[in-house]
Amino acid sequence: MGVDFVGVPIYEFECEECGAGFEELVAAGTATVACPECRSERTRRLISAVSPPGRTPRGARVRSDEARRRETVAARQDRIVESRKRRAAGEKP
Ligand SMILES: [Zn+2]
Repeated sequence: MGVDFVGVPIYEFECEECGAGFEELVAAGTATVACPECRSERTRRLISAVSPPGRTPRGARVRSDEARRRETVAARQDRIVESRKRRAAGEKP
């Protein structure tokens, strides 16, 4: 992977603690970025959001990463809703 200094190095991160997604300007070589939501440093860099000029690389991959992230979030929310429903059904007075 080449480092491109033409664009602003914006990277997309995902927090492994709370699942928050965020973008951060980071210098090349920055190892960890704390989550803005929970301050955890267990964050993953997903993809570079910067497209080098004159190329349109990895469009499909960006989209599939984004879709996968949405699915993960949706699945998590589904689980929360499910457990709430179950609790509501089971805890009838
Ligand atoms: Zn977090």
